This record gives sequence, C-alpha cells and structure tokens, in this order.
Amino acid sequence: MKNSFSRNVAFAALLLAGAATGVFAATPPQAAAPAAPAARPWMNTALSADERTKLLLGAMTEDEKLTLVFGYFGTDNPSKGYTRPPESREGSAGYVPGIPRLGITPQWETDAGLGVATQGAAQHKRERTALPSGIATAATWNPTLAREGGAMIGNEARNSGFNVMLAGGVDLLRDPRNGRNFEYGGEDPLLAGTIVGAEIAGIQSNHVISTTKHYAMNDQETERNTVNAVIDDAAARMSDLLAFEIAIEKGDPGSVMCSYNKVNGTHSCENPWLLTDVLRKDWGFKGYVMSDWGGTHSTAAAANAGLDQDSGFPFDDQPYFGKPLKQAVDSGQVSQATLDRMAGSILHAMFTTGVFDAPQAQPTTIDYAAHAKVTQADAEQGVVLLKNDGAILPLSRATKSIIIIGGHADKGVLAGGGSSLVYPRGGNAVPEGEPKTWPGPLMYYPSSPMDAIRAQAPNATVTYVDGSDPAAAAAAAKNADVALVFVTQWAGEGFDVPIQLQDGQDALVSAVAAANPKTVVVAETGGPILMPWANQVAGIVEAWYPGTSGGAAIADVLFGKVNPSGHLPATFPAAMSDLVRPGDIDKVTVTYSEGAAVGYKWYDKNHLTPQFAFGHGLSYTSFGFGNLKARAADGSVSASFTVTNTGKRQGMAVPQIYVGPVSGGWEAPKRLGGWQKIALAPGQSKTVTVAVDPRLLATFSADSHRWEIAAGSYKVMLAHSANEIDQTVTLQVPARTLPAGWHP
Ligand code: BGC
Repeated sequence: MKNSFSRNVAFAALLLAGAATGVFAATPPQAAAPAAPAARPWMNTALSADERTKLLLGAMTEDEKLTLVFGYFGTDNPSKGYTRPPESREGSAGYVPGIPRLGITPQWETDAGLGVATQGAAQHKRERTALPSGIATAATWNPTLAREGGAMIGNEARNSGFNVMLAGGVDLLRDPRNGRNFEYGGEDPLLAGTIVGAEIAGIQSNHVISTTKHYAMNDQETERNTVNAVIDDAAARMSDLLAFEIAIEKGDPGSVMCSYNKVNGTHSCENPWLLTDVLRKDWGFKGYVMSDWGGTHSTAAAANAGLDQDSGFPFDDQPYFGKPLKQAVDSGQVSQATLDRMAGSILHAMFTTGVFDAPQAQPTTIDYAAHAKVTQADAEQGVVLLKNDGAILPLSRATKSIIIIGGHADKGVLAGGGSSLVYPRGGNAVPEGEPKTWPGPLMYYPSSPMDAIRAQAPNATVTYVDGSDPAAAAAAAKNADVALVFVTQWAGEGFDVPIQLQDGQDALVSAVAAANPKTVVVAETGGPILMPWANQVAGIVEAWYPGTSGGAAIADVLFGKVNPSGHLPATFPAAMSDLVRPGDIDKVTVTYSEGAAVGYKWYDKNHLTPQFAFGHGLSYTSFGFGNLKARAADGSVSASFTVTNTGKRQGMAVPQIYVGPVSGGWEAPKRLGGWQKIALAPGQSKTVTVAVDPRLLATFSADSHRWEIAAGSYKVMLAHSANEIDQTVTLQVPARTLPAGWHP
C-alpha cells in the first residue's frame, strides 16, 4: 500500500541498486550552469510546441533525456533509508530534476483532484482548501463550476510551488464499493468526461500540468497492483475509454497517468493497446504518460508500449528506467526515436501548458477566503436532495428544537483517505479517529454542520448526540421538531468499502425514524450506499464528502438558503443483488461481462428498479418540461425543449436528454446524450437546445475500427432522471461512420 512503502517495494535492495547505478541516486544528477538565452531558440514563444520540442530535443544529450523521464518520490522515509531530493517540495508526491543548462524547469508534482494534498508520511502538512469529492462535483452537473474549482486548486498548487497536479480522475463507477469512487466522476462517460475535463482545464489555466488518471479500468482497489480487468475493445471504447477521451478533448491535459492494474492481461503501464493504439494513434494525444507510483513493471516493454515517464522512485519493485533504460537504448532494445518520444512528449506538455515559460510561481499569498467560496459553491450544487416527503425541507428558521445525531456533525465533515487527502486549515476536527496512518488519517474537516445549523436557526435549541446508542438517540429525538441523522461511509485509496453502512448506523436511523416521523438523513459517503431505511424517513440528503466548507453548504441546503440542484451521477442500488458482481470483489480477474452497460444502463437492460436513479435530484421548486423537438442534421442530432419553473422559488433545473434506438442493438436501451443546468426564477421559462455527440448515437466496431451510426428510428427522451422520462419523440437518423478518435 502507498505511503508506507509497504505497497510493493523491497526498499533497501532498491536503494542499493540505485546507488550502484548512479542514475538512481537519491540525489538526482547535478546540472551544468545555464547557457546564455541567445543559444536557446526553443525559448521563442512564437514557435509552435512541436517546433520548440524539436529544437530542444536536438540540443539534449542522452543522459539529459534519461533525466527527464525519471521521477523521485518527494517525501522522506527515514525508516526505509530514503531521503527525498533536496530540491523537491517537502511532503510532495514527486519531483523530476530540471536541466538548467537548457532552461528546463524541474517538475514539482502534487496530488490531486480535490486540492493540494500532502503525503501522509510527511512531517509537516500543507493546510489548503479542499473541494468536495469528485463525485460531488459530478453531482453538480455544472462544468462551469467544475472549471472554477479546478482553477482554484490549480492556483493553490502553483502558489505552493508545484507545476504538475496529479488530478483528473475519471475511471467509471462500475462497482459502488470501489474505495476511490469519491475521486472520480460517476458512472456515465459523457457526464464524467465533461466534468473532469472542465476541472483539468481550470487547473491548467494556472500553467500547471494536470494528469488525468488512472488510465484505465482502475475500477477497484482490491489487489489493484495485480488485478486483471478483462473487457473487449468496443465495450471499452464506449464506456471507460470514452470518459477518458472526452476528458482529454475538453481539458487537454499535459499528462495521463497509467494505472496499477492489468487490462486484458497486460499491466496498464506497459499496455501498447492503451498507451499507443488508443491514446496516441486514435486520439492523437501529444502529452506524456507517467506511471502511477510503483506502476512500472519493465524497461523496454514499458517504453516501447508508450510509457514516457517512470514516477516515484523508489516505489517500483525494482529500478526500470534510469540505468536499465540507458542500457536498453544503448543495446537498441529501445530506439533513439522512442527515447525522443518519451522526453519530447514531456517537453511538449510543458510548452503547451506554459510550464516551460513560467516555470515557478512567485510566492504569493493564497486567498483562502475567496477559495472557501469556490469550494462552498461546489458543495452546495453537489448536494443531492433524494427524498423530501411532506416538504419536510427546507427547515424553517423558526424551528424550535433540532436534534443532530451522529457523524461527528457537531465537529465537522468527512473526507476521503489516501493520496488525494488535502489537510485542512485548522487541523483534523476529530483527531482521535482511526486509522491515524495510511490510508488515513480518518479526517473530518473543521466545518461543523451543527455550528452552521445554529447560525441558521438562532432561536432553536440545537442538541447533539453521537448516535452510538440508538435507543438513547431515539429517546432524545422523540420530541424534537426535527431529527437530523448524519450517516458516514469512510472510503479511501488502497481498499474497497462495503455498500452497507457500518457500525450500526442503519439501526440508528431506523430507531430515530420510529421515534420521530420528522427524521431527515444527511449522508456523507464516498459513493452509493444501500438505504434500507429509505421508506422510514421523511427526507434524505446526499452530501458526499463536501470539502472544507461542507458544513456551511449542508446547512444552507437544509434551510433553503440554497435551493438544491444536485443530481446523482451514479445509481443507488435497492439491493446488493442488483450489482453487476454482487459477490466478493474478485482479487485476480474481473471480467467485465456487462461491457459498456455500466450503471443505469445495466439497470435498464435488466429491468431493475434502483433505490434512486442516475440523474435523480429534487428541488424546493418544481420544473415543467415542454415542447420537445428533435432534429437530425449534418449527421448529428439535437433536441430543443422548454423548461419552466412552476414553483415559488428560484432554482436550477437539470433537464436530461437520453437517446436510444427504437429497435435496440446497443449495450442498453438508452444513453445520456446531453443535459443543461439552467437557473430559473419562479414562473420563468427558457428554451434549451442540447446537441448529442454523434459517438453517443453510434456503436464502436472493433472490426472496422470506426464509430458506426446505424440508419433507423431513434428515441430522444427528455427526462428528470434516467427513470423519469417526461417526453419522447422519435426521429429517423441516417447512417454515418466516424473514424476512431473522431471528436466534435
Ligand atoms: C495514487 C496516485 C497518486 C500517486 C502519488 C498513487 O498511490 O494511485 O493517484 O497520484 O500515488 O501520490
């Protein structure tokens, strides 16, 4: 497991091997003094990234190229005898030496998608702003907000001395138990790719390279270094790979991180199909592929398959790049052209993102007050109101008595564990929690829902009980105007999680609901959970891991200061048996028999009714849809319709367009084809047009190596969620084929 170095390293042996080679020395190669700028034609910003890369490669020695493709871990581990390179940032994920002679900046790498993280083993933690979890941002269905969140964390990365952010997780949610679902964008390739792509673009607007990950099919943490995901080419391109493809189109990340697992029998970081055939040849990706920390398993095979940079020495089980790569180049196992591709793609990313020309931030103060607003806005729009019987929410400010139960809601809000963990300003609100070390610490951000609730209801008696004794909690809840039960599911890197709530929380909810019909559950979870008490409670609010301003966001939604507008980016199952693979998580081979029928597509295909459907999310107002029209022109389909706020409050609607062939033939009856998030005042109407990406009307043919739209009759559905279709029209769509790698 990561961070302790216990995940896969025979550390002492490694260090010895490294010292012997000279290339792996914990102190990276020292560079010569800078040459005069006049001798550096690649500094000319008027030239294209391709031209600059070519000029610079031409000036580099082989050893300099080898330096660029080899990264070091940025955190000491004294017990293992590893000391980070002195030029690295303390407690960071990684460092790649620069080459001052040529004006090449070092690469200072930090995790991750929720903000600037610090490695758990580090002595000193950076305290920074954390966004809500990735799945929460996906639940906003708002790419503008995702971009602003990315821009905010990218700013903190840059102002913390980093120019590479290991952010942009977009593996699809195939199993709700995956411990890293909270870092990703849910189960639909269009939604996940659009939201994560926007975040990447935001990060890179700071001249920070963003690294989309974990490429690919890293859909479980159990045995993540060895598990083999088996999926056919076409199904992969229409599901997980499509999510990456869209994220890359929209965000144009400088880098892609290959994952720990195997895909179709070959580790991702030496998988020519993933790294060369799909990523480079079909999608035209020009940035670089970096390995996940310890994810490299060979020298020539990896380099020739398309790996450009070996990350995080000394995490690999033995050294693969550095000296062994030099030998492989000298013996011709790896060609000079390949070494040029490796170093050149890194330089290319530095040029396109501006990292080369603006290598390091001037130390500036981070505007934490402004950043708190960005994360809070994200959290507010990511909260999903799942159930609201009898309009129990929003709570009135005149409420007299509120009992808050469980989830440490008196102190803070939960965060996910592992390398993405951002340490908050103010420290852990529940420092006594276990585990304290990797993949912990179990972290609660000091943004207390109770304090924020008190501020919203100044005249109420607000009390807290911890929920460890359901009978006591029920007794305390009995006479309150409202009982708010906070339930939690801690998830993190390196382990998968049960889909059932643990530690008697289901019994707690049932006991409180039996005592007081005015019970509302607030869930802080990594992803979908089972809610066996869903019919017993009046209200359910899914708040995910809501980030460093999460407590205020939750209270604002509960009291209606914010009208909820989040919608589920993943299906909440009604029963364990609804899962594609309901048995124990496989440790060796996971055969993706569902193919591209992920999430709601699986439920549709198998006529399963979930607890809460993909796309579901309530509001304190109501929306009417009307006048759906669809047209096919120039080989693509667009839908237009009206949305009206039919209620009494301002609110944001998320009308969703699904598409499907009338006579079948796809992996599932329908796919999300597009959506829009729109703000409407009471009584206001807007006409909306949504264009459907032609790839979502096509199936990928591995034989023809093309996207193929079959001529025929297609349904275009306007919906509130995958299970609540409001209107359907059918139209004829002509046949069309598109090359693999086609994009709008
Ligand atoms: C994780 C990556 C992370 C890297 C560096 C790995 O354990 O899988 O997501 O970027 O460590 O910390």
